[in-house]
Amino acid sequence: MDFSESERVGTIREIVSQFMKEEAYPFEQSLRRRPFAELVPELEVKRARARQTGLWAAHIPQQYGGGGLTLLEFAHMSEELGRSPIGHYLFNVQAPDVGNMEVLMAHGTEEQRQRWLLPLVRGDIRSCFTMTEPEFPGSNPTWMGTTARREGGEWVIRGHKWFASSVEGAAFAICMAITNPEAESPYRRASMIIVPTGTPGFEHVGNISVMGDRGSGYASHGEVSYTGCRVPAANLLGEEGAGFVIAQERLGPGRIHHCMRWIGICERALGIMCRHAVTRELSPGKPLGAKQIVQERIAESRAEIHAARLMVLHAAWKIDNEGTQAAREEISLIKFSVARTLQRVLDRAIQTLGALGMTDETPLAWWWAHERAARIYDGPDEVHMSLVARRILRSYGMRVP
Ligand SMILES: Cc1cc2nc3c(=O)[nH]c(=O)nc-3n(C[C@H](O)[C@H](O)[C@H](O)COP(=O)(O)OP(=O)(O)OC[C@H]3O[C@@H](n4cnc5c(N)ncnc54)[C@H](O)[C@@H]3O)c2cc1C
Repeated sequence: MDFSESERVGTIREIVSQFMKEEAYPFEQSLRRRPFAELVPELEVKRARARQTGLWAAHIPQQYGGGGLTLLEFAHMSEELGRSPIGHYLFNVQAPDVGNMEVLMAHGTEEQRQRWLLPLVRGDIRSCFTMTEPEFPGSNPTWMGTTARREGGEWVIRGHKWFASSVEGAAFAICMAITNPEAESPYRRASMIIVPTGTPGFEHVGNISVMGDRGSGYASHGEVSYTGCRVPAANLLGEEGAGFVIAQERLGPGRIHHCMRWIGICERALGIMCRHAVTRELSPGKPLGAKQIVQERIAESRAEIHAARLMVLHAAWKIDNEGTQAAREEISLIKFSVARTLQRVLDRAIQTLGALGMTDETPLAWWWAHERAARIYDGPDEVHMSLVARRILRSYGMRVP
């Protein structure tokens, strides 16, 4: 693997970094003080500028209106964007839309792409993904209560979902539901179905309060109820019973996006910590950074971020070259280890800033509240650790299920 940054990646980083300085960082205070939904008109002006950089929806091939970057190139861009909570949104590469675009591209019919993918890539609409249910463990996605039954030319969906990110204001949801309960393999029982949110029987029950914040619009997580919700049979995404397989595919590159975003957060947090260590004096002429314990925090953070970045770039390179399935172990490794690095670096930065770290004067407190979830969504730490450990133990001859 070549560790040098290509000229193209260097240019992408420069463009994005300049854009972030001009458009994203100065806007962050508004994000922390006003509801997201209220900021949309101002954000639209910034998004129009982001379109002009040629990096709009950069992960999507140019034929669909995206920037056409490889996963590895996009990983670098994602790190730059991750330095601000609104970076990804400004370039239309925010979760969950990014994953939904990829699923529609890979499995959508021509009609589904025209109706849902193209407006999503243009940024005219938003979407959400409804898989997790309050009554069932999300870490075992083969076991769920939501069903979709075929009645004539329609699917009739019944079920209860929660933590549907960005459902408020979304034009459609991709719903994961059991369609083939009789299938022998539990991995072939569920399907993905496109549900326009205006369909009778689709109800956004409300937003969930997460760490004291109910959020709004794109920046929220909602509860959804499907009560006899009818959509045309043609809204099935991919094959019947292929929902689990598609979900795994969706989450592979998605984890690269998240991990590189977290590394961007870590870099920003380390920068904030270092600036404070240099400028805050404990007594006249004695900066905080002169204390060995603070130096240790800085050095440890630098080493951990560097290691995390190399691991993620390697996983992205492997997906680009050998496919998601071949990179399964690498994907699990980065998912739990980078999420933990993120938590440690944020904690060190907050500690170094003292009371200031708890305020909304920096993005640290916002990230602390909103990114604790990194160790839970897209598979909790334990699930990924178990996958890695079982593979290793198998290679030592142990019989593991
Ligand atoms: C901020 C946020 C955004 C989200 N966005 C979405 C979304 O857009 N769409 C969507 O469908 N879902 C979303 N989710 C849900 C997320 O995918 C689930 O929370 C996740 O899959 C875990 O499922 P669960 O919460 O039901 O936990 P459970 O499966 O009940 O697990 C609870 C805990 O048990 C432990 N555990 C689980 N499995 C094992 C194991 N094998 N070994 C040891 N311990 C284990 C872990 O500590 C885990 O945290 C989101 C969640 C959060 C927090």
